Amino acid sequence: MFRLRDREMSRQIMGELEKMRLDITLMHVCGTHQDTLIRFGLDSEFQRIGVDIRQGPGCPVCVTPPQEIEMTMALAKAGITIAAFGDLMKVPGESQSLNEIKAEGGDIRIVFGVDDAVDLARHSQKEVVFVGIGFETTAPTTASALLSNPPENFSVLSCHRTVPPALKAIASMGEIKLHGMIQPGHVSTVIGTAPYEFLSREHRIPQVVAGFEPLDLMMAVYLLAKQQSEGRAEVQNEYSRVVRPDGNPSALRAMRDAFSPTDSVWRGFPVIPSSGLSVRKELEKHDAAKRFVDIVAPIQDKEYEEPEGCRCGEMLRGIITSDECPLFGTKCTPQNPIGPCMVSREGSCHISHRYRRAKKGSV
Ligand code: SF4
Repeated sequence: MFRLRDREMSRQIMGELEKMRLDITLMHVCGTHQDTLIRFGLDSEFQRIGVDIRQGPGCPVCVTPPQEIEMTMALAKAGITIAAFGDLMKVPGESQSLNEIKAEGGDIRIVFGVDDAVDLARHSQKEVVFVGIGFETTAPTTASALLSNPPENFSVLSCHRTVPPALKAIASMGEIKLHGMIQPGHVSTVIGTAPYEFLSREHRIPQVVAGFEPLDLMMAVYLLAKQQSEGRAEVQNEYSRVVRPDGNPSALRAMRDAFSPTDSVWRGFPVIPSSGLSVRKELEKHDAAKRFVDIVAPIQDKEYEEPEGCRCGEMLRGIITSDECPLFGTKCTPQNPIGPCMVSREGSCHISHRYRRAKKGSV
């Protein structure tokens, strides 16, 4: 039987990997994978045996571009009630954060999910905008709220994004030579395994869908190393105890019924085709981008500078690790974040800082 924290099995897998004399770079796109890697010290163990694992664009708050942060603040300043996840509150905008606008009297409520926002609208006379952040893991619940006849004063600012187009962008940009990708278990629970196949077919990248226990990640690395050494590039499902090949059809249907794919800006990336989810025309009375077009549209195409010295863009493309940003643990800390990767609990810099794996002397 597969035991999730089996020391002997861990030793065996690491031993087999060591014998392979590896020199490979892998990427994952998941805050929970990064948490497991750093919390259990797996990142340094893997590095010791020649496996470098980078976190790509897998933190929803981190990839949310400045335009969407500014739109949210503009809506709040216009007197609209904003319902947002707590992680968004401290993300620095051009001159302020949502926290600061709330302190100045903005009606910004922290919610744990879209249902809280719908409830808020039901008991309010004011307009309520839910800021829909996240990938295929959270988009189905937003979709289902939109499809369930929500109150007239409820709308969604859809900042949802989908993972496969971002993986395509990473592979096509070719800034980092990848020997394999560890695909996110949560997202794959919804989309299944088929949407990743093009990466192996067109870019010859081995892939493994993995769970979140240390042993899951060790198995994923082992399977990727085997594919690499045998010259194979395919999608394997290490997380088959949860992920089905066709994902979750009803969640996918809800997403299709509520959203249409749209080209979308991700922080640190050029526009990624068909990577965003905009609210479908039939539901546009609940689309904050349409309902408050006068506030949102002027911000949509504005260019925003990243904070001085912030290297979150390179972090999100897997080019650098948090230790390589000169601001890490010095000017940029969770108490005083310069970039979003230090704000979100799924951000690479926040995770590294949390487990105090900062550069010597910096924390
Ligand atoms: Fe961005 Fe701060 Fe991380 Fe540097 S340490 S990449 S500024 S979040």
